Amino acid sequence: MTIELKIQELRDELRQHNYNYYILDNPTISDYEFDMKLKELQALEDANPQLFDHNSPTQRVGGTITKNFNTIVHDFRMYSLDNSYSKEDLLDWEKRIKKMVDGEVQYTCELKYDGASINLTYEDGKLIRAVTRGDGVQGDEVTPNVKTIKTVPLQLKGDFPKRFDIRGEIILPIEGFLKMNKERISNNEEPYRNPRNTASGSLKLQDSAEVAKRPLECLLYSIKGNDLHISTQYEGLEKARVWGFKVPKEAKLVNSIDEVLDFVAYWDEHRHNLPYEIDGVVIKVNSLFQQDELGFTAKAPRWAMAYKFKAEQVSTRLNEITYQVGRTGAITPVANLEPVQLAGTIVKRASLHNADQIEKLDIRVGDAVYVEKGGEIIPKIVGIDLSKRPKDSQPTVYITHCPECGTELIRPEGEAKHYCPNDSGCPPQVVGRIQHYISRKAMDIEGLGGETVALLVKESLITNYADLYELTVDQIIPLERMAEKSAENLVKGIMASKQIPFERVLFALGIRYVGETVAKKLAKHYKSIDALMFASMLDLISVDEIGDRIAKSVVEFFSIEANKSIIARLKHYGVQLEISADKLANQTDKLKGQTFVVSGVFETVSRADLKKLIEDNGGKVSSSISSKTSYVVAGDKMGPSKRTKAENLNITILTEIAFLELMK
Ligand code: AMP
Ligand code: ZN
Repeated sequence: MTIELKIQELRDELRQHNYNYYILDNPTISDYEFDMKLKELQALEDANPQLFDHNSPTQRVGGTITKNFNTIVHDFRMYSLDNSYSKEDLLDWEKRIKKMVDGEVQYTCELKYDGASINLTYEDGKLIRAVTRGDGVQGDEVTPNVKTIKTVPLQLKGDFPKRFDIRGEIILPIEGFLKMNKERISNNEEPYRNPRNTASGSLKLQDSAEVAKRPLECLLYSIKGNDLHISTQYEGLEKARVWGFKVPKEAKLVNSIDEVLDFVAYWDEHRHNLPYEIDGVVIKVNSLFQQDELGFTAKAPRWAMAYKFKAEQVSTRLNEITYQVGRTGAITPVANLEPVQLAGTIVKRASLHNADQIEKLDIRVGDAVYVEKGGEIIPKIVGIDLSKRPKDSQPTVYITHCPECGTELIRPEGEAKHYCPNDSGCPPQVVGRIQHYISRKAMDIEGLGGETVALLVKESLITNYADLYELTVDQIIPLERMAEKSAENLVKGIMASKQIPFERVLFALGIRYVGETVAKKLAKHYKSIDALMFASMLDLISVDEIGDRIAKSVVEFFSIEANKSIIARLKHYGVQLEISADKLANQTDKLKGQTFVVSGVFETVSRADLKKLIEDNGGKVSSSISSKTSYVVAGDKMGPSKRTKAENLNITILTEIAFLELMK
């Protein structure tokens, strides 16, 4: 057999297995066997680059980096849907339909998947592009990201039209969502709020390999094109399924609004048995001929209607208000509820946000409260049933002292939250700050997790992050669940963190309001912790994008003796507290105060390098030309409208060579 045939055969085979696994839910080989075959294909493709295919099953793992997503005008506009909330709404809709079309009307009832809509274009059975809905007229092209989603077929089967668009919803099933959040929490990262936002955020990630790691799915519901040979919505769904798309089986063809209402009632009750979230039902006139007659309003098709479920609400008793202390000392009041079933899960707690919130709703212990679950994971209290308030009920008095360390709380002016100011002695703050220090985006210490940190603090082996560098293997081994090997790895991981660059160390210190981006800015501007420590409020504010709030927090942090001594110790252990010399060697202030716009394609340097060169030399890079622009660096193929704009504003346009000359 020729290599070409062998590759073809493997691709077809893997495609079928993908289909069995992801669409039919019925795998016929083990994951291991699948991986082996995929590896074999990958090896053959690597050895024969001339046989590369964008739609090969090997392309699912991603790896493409997209900096800017192209805007694409949809061939068929992506309309929104009209909403209904009651039987009357649906009957009114039916009346409007009956006025415009003759004969019987059948309806397809579908679930309304709660995710991000996507338009997929196929030509000759191959996926050629995927575009987000955008404003309905045009959206962003996100093909590399969508290709990593296993339920999106890259090659179709059966008798498909030559070219067509198919629309669906990219969703994140609940189980996958919870798993992702578990991982984030154990990495000390903020959990995602809900599956929908996470799904739509995923589509716009720059690194498709990152998207590939997320358990996204694509559920299809509509086919658009010319010459489709499809006469009803329901037939379209069935055909799409045959071609290899994931089309949920719950869709149902019915003959009357009464039957529609049965479908709605059924799914309102049973929606939590589904593996993904839905926020309603979509009802569509089944005949495409009738759809044509009905047409569109400015915003939505007249032949379709969404029926939105009400946000679920239950009433339960508020047993107790407790207070959590976060890493920064911020206090969050938590409502502890009589456990109650809501939206498919048992709810025991709800967020109360802050003191004002409690006062506004006059929430009291013993009250019967209404709890609602919207898109968010943590439910909220939306009201109180005053008729059930106990006679002896007392207004809630907000705590004045920290529940963890007893220190009197403060409430900084203009802030909604109370804080415990005892940052060096309050246990959750101590643990939280060290957990932040070791987290992935900060010092990324391998072999050390959040729970171990808590344990180390509990055993008094550490009380701040500088203490980490004095830990020894012998001290760690006696801890629960610590084998010698893991103790060694832990110490190794801590030592390795001494190589982490200054900007990340600065982030790791956990200065309030100094997040990743601010840390980068400050590191670049001051270049060393010594310089930063001596910076005054005024000096700090003069740094681009650093405002009062951040400046104040930085000055405060370095005014505290304990912090100064911790930093002195970090320096002593060899942690990077300044920008490394070779990085500095390429940096100057030459372009300070100048703003550049870089446009076009360049010959000797890449666009990214060019931007870095500008930033390393103190300049600022902006994406659009305005009166604030100092120079435009223009490469080949710079857009004519940009050129005109620059000329109109009298901005100097530099060629690549002229710019590099300037830098010398
Ligand atoms: P809305 O965003 O509320 O205007 O609702 C319209 C959106 O519902 C569409 O853009 C789709 O993304 C989404 N949707 C989810 N499920 C379906 C479905 N079965 N049929 C049509 N649209 C759906
Ligand atoms: Zn405290």
